[in-house]
Amino acid sequence: MRLPLALLTDVRLLNSGFRIGHWIHNGVTKTSLLSSCNICSRAERKWIKPVGFDTGVKTYNSLTKQKEPLVLAQERIATWYSCGPTVYDHAHLGHACSYVRFDILQRILSRLFEINVIHVMVITDIDDKIIQRSLEQNISPTVLARMHEEEFKRDMQALRVLPPAVYMRVTDNIPQIVAFIERIIGNGHGYVTSQGNVYFDTQSIGNRYGKLVNLGGIVGELGAQDKRDPRDFALWKASKPHEPHWESPWGQGRPGWHIECSTIASSVFGSQLDIHSGGIDLAFPHHENEIAQSEAYHQCEQWGNYFLHSGHLHLKGSVEKMSKSLKNYDFLESYTANEFRLFCLLTRYRSAIDYSDASTNEARSTLSTISAFCHNAQAYMQGHLLCQPIEEGILWERLSATQSSVRKALADDFDTPKAVGAIMSLIHHGNCQLQPATKVDGPRCPAVFGAMLSYVREILGVFGVDLLDRKEVHDSSGVLNNVVEELVHFRSKVRKFALSVGDQASQNPQTGSEIQKRHPQPDRVPLLKACDALRNNLAPLGVHIKDRGTNSTWEITRGGETRKN
Ligand SMILES: [Zn+2]
Repeated sequence: MRLPLALLTDVRLLNSGFRIGHWIHNGVTKTSLLSSCNICSRAERKWIKPVGFDTGVKTYNSLTKQKEPLVLAQERIATWYSCGPTVYDHAHLGHACSYVRFDILQRILSRLFEINVIHVMVITDIDDKIIQRSLEQNISPTVLARMHEEEFKRDMQALRVLPPAVYMRVTDNIPQIVAFIERIIGNGHGYVTSQGNVYFDTQSIGNRYGKLVNLGGIVGELGAQDKRDPRDFALWKASKPHEPHWESPWGQGRPGWHIECSTIASSVFGSQLDIHSGGIDLAFPHHENEIAQSEAYHQCEQWGNYFLHSGHLHLKGSVEKMSKSLKNYDFLESYTANEFRLFCLLTRYRSAIDYSDASTNEARSTLSTISAFCHNAQAYMQGHLLCQPIEEGILWERLSATQSSVRKALADDFDTPKAVGAIMSLIHHGNCQLQPATKVDGPRCPAVFGAMLSYVREILGVFGVDLLDRKEVHDSSGVLNNVVEELVHFRSKVRKFALSVGDQASQNPQTGSEIQKRHPQPDRVPLLKACDALRNNLAPLGVHIKDRGTNSTWEITRGGETRKN
């Protein structure tokens, strides 16, 4: 049998041995824990390991501050709630980073670990910032919110962030929020003030307040004078004149910030939630308060089992959060979705991430290396790239080892940098063997390169990096490909003619240019120079010609993304 939450906490308070203090607020003597009780008794906040389906994945849980096995209530089903945007402005680069990182985590769970992730995201379409901005711009808060909601969804689509199973708007859920608050009051955890505000009574849950963030002292939301305890937070706010409002048992008003998430998550998932995610800046007070409300409402010991928080995005050299909007920064103009996703993959989702030329260039060059490998592997398979004999066994071995180490890294709190490192190591081994040769003695082994290529594409696809996406390149008609194909074919013929002059030309395994140095044919040098100039001039346009002996291969890239081999 479960004791009611209020009773449980009272017993715990008595047993906890904390010093009890008193103060007078609004004429009422209150009892509270003093701030000297910083060492909050862990027993009261002990995390209960869920019973159910062990995914084999370990994830860092903010509730325990350590990695825990990810155990889901239902087999292969993950209920996942995330705090979405407050739609009063353009999305920040920092927001984009957080959403992409969690999108990567969800893709890993669903595509690699075969978990059906049911993701619900709230859209905060009423709050102080929306009201303030709508007054500044002289448009209705609803219109302002809808505009930015649409823009947010477009940005997410551009970054290839999969949409949640459902977006839920706060304003579509006001009756549910009112009912949720009524039950919290009924359960003895909320109170109404003479000003028409409703607050959560943090003292009513004793030491359980601070489950997520160990509060060093009394920390409270500023501004309100009618609270019993500085830590208490608004469940319902009486509306000021000319503000949007809804009817409630406590008069006209609107929901407090935190209550929307507890209500909406509970309306879909009930009293138990597997995973809750958000940026680290939401841990306190937002997630702390969500936990308090939800457990007070459901009278349960543990509402959310895992809290996952993504690290901040920093401008290099600055401690301030990156707050430029995607739009102002022309971010989506300068970077492709693949580049940004790779940028996110190169750090762990929990880490702070430095946004700098160096870090974005690293992402670009990593992507470029991957693309070049895919291109070379295809050229080899097609017979366009002649190579020295391949040591096939080593590559099959490396591929198999990579597959297991990538899976292992991702099962260890989604260690994407380690996984990318393993993939890059595989590519390095592949490249080592794709050494051009003019004469081939040994057997060809195209299959192993096909297997490596498929794996690299597939695993990057798991991360949402689509190596085959042609939308990122302007011309999708295919005309450009055909033109480049003809041009390179023509150039190869010219070059072959220019090089096939000396006796050693066909035997020498060196590159064409070295042959040219050894056997300059004055009348044909201009042809070679013209070929080099064409290659050099096309590179900045994204057309990369590679001379391999007397053969040439080519690829079209835009910002490091392969278009065509
Ligand atoms: Zn939330």
